[in-house]
Amino acid sequence: MKQYVVGVDVGGTNIKLGVVGPSGKVIVRNSFATKPFASSRMKLISALSRAIEASIMAAGLNKKQILGVGIGLPGLIDYEKGIVRFLPNIPGWHSVHLRSILQKKVHLPVFVDNDVKIITLAESKFGAGRGVKNLVCMTLGTGVGAGLILNGQLYRGQDNAAGELGHIPLNEHGPKCNCGGVGCFEAYVGNRPLFALASRMMGKPGLTTLDMFALAKKGNKKALFFWKTAGQRIGNGLVGIVNLLNPRLIIIGGGVSNNEEFLFKPITDTIRRRAMSLQGSAFKIKRAKFKDDAGIIGAYVLVTNAQK
Ligand SMILES: [Zn+2]
Repeated sequence: MKQYVVGVDVGGTNIKLGVVGPSGKVIVRNSFATKPFASSRMKLISALSRAIEASIMAAGLNKKQILGVGIGLPGLIDYEKGIVRFLPNIPGWHSVHLRSILQKKVHLPVFVDNDVKIITLAESKFGAGRGVKNLVCMTLGTGVGAGLILNGQLYRGQDNAAGELGHIPLNEHGPKCNCGGVGCFEAYVGNRPLFALASRMMGKPGLTTLDMFALAKKGNKKALFFWKTAGQRIGNGLVGIVNLLNPRLIIIGGGVSNNEEFLFKPITDTIRRRAMSLQGSAFKIKRAKFKDDAGIIGAYVLVTNAQK
């Protein structure tokens, strides 16, 4: 019986693969560095194909037991046509028909989608968002993105490009952003601006959010104030989302979400204070359940959803 999925999570640094069985259980994991293959897209696609075959073998399965391959990529993806439109962090990927190229190599159905949408599927089906009909799943890191579950369904937008939370403009006179915009949310709460804020507050260069977490744990007052400020910045960006979408749940993932104990209260307080009263009292914040496996488990949901 076909009940397994090969999940692939393509990142700018690493590519993670896993074979996932019923109920989203990961039975085999594999990974390799992206860089040696990033120079040419055919090289990368061949590496993916070899790794997919090897993972099926390592799981002791044959292709008759595999429903398909789900692939998450960091960029603009045409889910319906199976085309990678653009990957900002992996050069040379413009309008690549990844699904049709890879299907010919591995002889299995292939599904491709944006990585944050896939993580959202994982959290919604098996993680922090189980049973919740309306939620926002936000990832905080170098980039800031989000997936939306509205009325129990992943909301894709007209071009599968919905959810660019990091590029909501907050200030028309703010810093320039990689997207071409100005004063985007990401320019205030992405890793780079948070590291800069940390260094400025502590009067010491080169500090990261990890350093600030360690200092806050020791009770350092400036570090605690840093987290309060970061939480207020994040909350300020989410007020509009809460008013617009009226979600029951906001799931926060990515490196910064490890600092839940210092971060979530100022986020919640800011939203409750600034949002409209009904929407502002009806939401909760939770940390994402999955870390490294999120993309692989989400790929399982993507492929199994497509069977219905
Ligand atoms: Zn932007």
